[in-house]
This record gives sequence, structure tokens and C-alpha cells, in this order.
Amino acid sequence: MSPEQDCLFCKIVRKQVPCQIVHEDERVIAFRDIHPQAPTHVLVVPKRHVAGIHEVAAADGPRLGEWMLAAADVARRLGIHEAGYRLVINAKADGGQTVDHLHVHVLGGRRMQWPPG
Ligand code: AMP
Ligand code: ZN
Repeated sequence: MSPEQDCLFCKIVRKQVPCQIVHEDERVIAFRDIHPQAPTHVLVVPKRHVAGIHEVAAADGPRLGEWMLAAADVARRLGIHEAGYRLVINAKADGGQTVDHLHVHVLGGRRMQWPPG
């Protein structure tokens, strides 16, 4: 089975798993996290399956830039742009990655702590 067939976020991209979509275009889908860690917690997910930031090749740099800019744009659309927000990409086990499809967390609506847990 290809990773795309079994991947939760690929299923969300294909609309096989319900979620609360806040933005979608030809490159990314953005939807509310099922276990929000902040008043605003959205995941921005490239529609193409990429396992994680560790799988992004130098040639994909422009795409990575687009995904990050899409996340900043989602923050603007959701009205957290002025107060501030945090973008997070978790990588592999020690980074806390639980879904092996690259995603950018957009967190806002409260003051973030540093260092993160
Ligand atoms: P990470 O731990 O960085 O891999 O983030 C995965 C995120 O996906 C977690 O914050 C989960 O709460 C979230 N998540 C898992 N399943 C779903 C789902 N079906 N819909 C929305 N968010 C989900
Ligand atoms: Zn996937």
C-alpha cells in the first residue's frame, strides 16, 4: 500500500475524513486541529504527500516557502495576525510528530510559552 492510501492527512485532502476546513487552494488545505492546544489551532497541510520536513529536498525549497506563506496567510485570515501567533513543524519522534504527512501548526489566541514543552 502506498503511503498516500493509508495516510490520515491524505485522506483529509481527499475528503475521506471529515474535518473543519478553514482554507483550501490548489497547494494546501488548512483545517482545525482535533485536539486544539490554543484558542486558534489550525494545521496547514500540503496536498502532495510529504512525510515531514526531513523529507523536503533542496529542490522543494520554493514549495516549502509557499507552505509557510500559506500558514502565515491562514493566520491573517483567522484574525490572529495582529496579536501574534506561532508556526510549528514537528519532525519525527523527538520532535513530537505523530502524523507522517508534513504539516504546519498555526497556534494563536493566547500568549505562547517559551521554551515549548
Ligand atoms: P503532530 O503531532 O505535529 O504530528 O501533529 C498532528 C496533529 O494532528 C495533532 O495536533 C493532532 O491533534 C492532529 N490530528 C490528528 N487527527 C486529526 C484529525 N482527524 N483532524 C484534525 N486534526 C487531527
Ligand atoms: Zn499523506
